Amino acid sequence: MARHARGERLLPEVEVEEAFRRLKHEMPGRTLTAKGPKDQPDAFRSVVSCILSAQSLDRNTAAATDNLFALAKTPDEMLALTDEEMAAAIRPCGLYNMKTRNLKRLCAALIEEHGRTVPQTREELMALPGVGRKCADIVLSFTFDADVIAVDTHVNRVSNRIGITDEPTADRTAAALVHRAPPWAQRDGHFWLIQFGKAVCRSQRPLCETCFLNDLCLYFTAQKTVMA
Ligand code: SF4
Repeated sequence: MARHARGERLLPEVEVEEAFRRLKHEMPGRTLTAKGPKDQPDAFRSVVSCILSAQSLDRNTAAATDNLFALAKTPDEMLALTDEEMAAAIRPCGLYNMKTRNLKRLCAALIEEHGRTVPQTREELMALPGVGRKCADIVLSFTFDADVIAVDTHVNRVSNRIGITDEPTADRTAAALVHRAPPWAQRDGHFWLIQFGKAVCRSQRPLCETCFLNDLCLYFTAQKTVMA
C-alpha cells in the first residue's frame, strides 16, 4: 500500500461532509433493530457489560452477563459476591480474574464516589476502573442518549480508510471524530460507519469497485496508484 504523508491521509472537510451525507443516505442508521451492542436495562449493567466485552465475542459476553446478572444486579450485590463466584460467572468472556478485580473496584468506586449512580460525563466514566474511551462512549451514546460516535473496530477501520481520520488507535480515532465528523453526523454516525463497515468496507476484501464512496476514499486512491 502506498504511504502518504500524514496530511495527505486526511480528506478535506467538505469531502468528509459529503462522505457522511452519502452514508446517511445509503445506511439505515439508528433504527429500532439497530440496538446498541450493550443493550442493558440500566446504566450500571451497561457499564458492567462493556467491561465484560473487552476482547470477547458478543455471544461470550452475553453468556457472562446473563450469568452475572442472575446473581447480582447492583454494585452492592456484586460486592457481596466472592471473587470466586464472580469469576466463575463471567468465565465465558475470558480474562475473568482481571475483569473480576475491575468489577469489584468499579462497584466500590460507584458506591464511595458516585452515590451508587453511574456518572454521565466521559471524564468521570473513564476515571472508573476498567472503563476506557470506547466503553465510556458506548454508555454515553446508548444509555444516556448523547450524540457521540463510539468507535469499535468497524468505525475505526472505515474512518481511517476513507480519510475521515488518520489515527493509529481507536481511542484517537474517537477523539478525532469529535471534530472531523459534522455536528449533524454525531448522533447516528456510529451506526452508519458500522453498517457500512459490515456491508461494504469489510475488513477483508472491501467492495471498493462498487463502493459509493470510492471517488472520495483515500485508501482506494492509494490502491489505484499502486496498481497503475
Ligand atoms: S472505496 Fe473501498 S476502502 Fe474506500 S470506503 Fe469504499 S470499500 Fe472502503
